[in-house]
Amino acid sequence: MIGSRFVNIQIIFVLHVADLAGKRSKNIVQTLEQISLKSNYDAVIVGGGSAGVAAAIASAREGLETLLLVRGSELGGNLSQDLVHSISGLYLISNDVVPHPANGGLALEFTERLLKTESAMGPVRMNRVDVLLQEPQLFSIQCTRLCGKEKNLIVVFNSTLRSVLSNGTVIESIEIDTHPEPIRAAVFVDASSDAKLSFLAGADYEEADPAELQRAAYIFSIGNVNLDDVDDNSRFILSQKIVAGIRDGSLDPQLAVAVMRPTGLAEQVRWTIDLESEGDHYSPLNPECLTRLQILGCQLAAQLEAYLRVSVTGFEKCRITASPGQTSARESRRVSGRYCLTEKDILDGVEFEDAVCRSAWPIELRETVRGQKSHASKKSKPCDIPLRALISKDFDNLLMAGRCISATHRAQGALRVIGTCLAVGQAAGLAAATIKRSPTGKISPGEEGAAAAPIREKIFCDINR
Ligand SMILES: Cc1cc2nc3c(=O)[nH]c(=O)nc-3n(C[C@H](O)[C@H](O)[C@H](O)COP(=O)(O)OP(=O)(O)OC[C@H]3O[C@@H](n4cnc5c(N)ncnc54)[C@H](O)[C@@H]3O)c2cc1C
Repeated sequence: MIGSRFVNIQIIFVLHVADLAGKRSKNIVQTLEQISLKSNYDAVIVGGGSAGVAAAIASAREGLETLLLVRGSELGGNLSQDLVHSISGLYLISNDVVPHPANGGLALEFTERLLKTESAMGPVRMNRVDVLLQEPQLFSIQCTRLCGKEKNLIVVFNSTLRSVLSNGTVIESIEIDTHPEPIRAAVFVDASSDAKLSFLAGADYEEADPAELQRAAYIFSIGNVNLDDVDDNSRFILSQKIVAGIRDGSLDPQLAVAVMRPTGLAEQVRWTIDLESEGDHYSPLNPECLTRLQILGCQLAAQLEAYLRVSVTGFEKCRITASPGQTSARESRRVSGRYCLTEKDILDGVEFEDAVCRSAWPIELRETVRGQKSHASKKSKPCDIPLRALISKDFDNLLMAGRCISATHRAQGALRVIGTCLAVGQAAGLAAATIKRSPTGKISPGEEGAAAAPIREKIFCDINR
């Protein structure tokens, strides 16, 4: 079964690469040398992760001339760079046998597209939540194909945001490292996950205490595994063997929290190791800290590979086949918006007048490496995400999308998942169009309820809310 899926995924992958090479849209460009960037856009989106891609597509579909700036050379953000392999938050938390989408619109479009192209499988039930298991590279390819179809969208890879120029409560322009001129826009969307755009603009933000921040993780793939030998029973034996390895000193104690998941590809599994991230000294924004963690993750992965080879049936010839481009941080800056979502909002499943989409994932905290703590709404009610949490309180034309929206540390533990980032991204792209069309160039405080209604309508046009 897994073998036949392997064949399908390989063929689709090759087709997509060929498709990209042969019919690459003129809008997808590799470097700035190949295009002349304009000095003015309707909307500029910074960050090509799930939130940024959704924001860019939504903005372009509204007819806005949109520029999507991507720091690396592929779309998908930490999903593809860091090998995150399951998409959470796409479905309502429920005991129903059939999963119900939490949001329609682009989140649903992505779900259907990933399943149709066999870039993901599922939904897979894990207790009361449902996730899609996806292939990071294939997700990235789907993002590229979707962006390539949008005639109003220019995507520029290998561009890092350097500075932001503002005047009063308006962001006027930004500068990127690869272009000599400032780039102006009517609206800017910060989908950079670390809130770099907001930070450089001088917008207010929050960051959790280092000891409280969600821990970083190292995700890698191991191939050449005889999966016929890895059933549920052998997984149990595997955990026992890892504990034994830690006891006899062959394995580092941090490997006690290593989690293995299937990938859908023959002979391959994926491991996630939450890293003991330097306690009070941990900083997801400090490159030296991230480098140390990257080296630690790499060493732990090598140790595990060597141990599995000699100790576990089915892993005798295993080898590491993919490692992340960087150590994955789960949390950093959160921009202060006109409303800050709280843990209570999430647990009570609060409804807001200016709701644009919904959060349907438990508050998942990984503040230590001793495993996650989850808190879900007792009523299994999703929480509305208000438009005000996407608008910076300091700048009228600055929107946030993805894991940096306005929320407390604990609320972010629910909001940061990819399914929610896709919906929030779409809402930010639609809000950008509202701001661009507004004669005042903003959504004034008090007008968010009226502005949110048409956005919500578009996001829920294909499902019941
Ligand atoms: C270890 C780990 C495991 C996870 N597991 C899951 C899971 O199982 N399921 C799930 O749903 N979610 C999971 N998540 C959470 C989820 O992956 C992220 O929260 C989500 O992908 C964030 O999306 P985003 O678009 O906000 O940011 P990102 O995907 O991080 O994208 C941000 C983009 O901005 C770019 N950028 C940053 N700074 C600049 C700059 N100065 N100039 C230009 N571009 C810039 C980055 O290069 C990146 O492309 C996990 C996260 C981690 C770290």
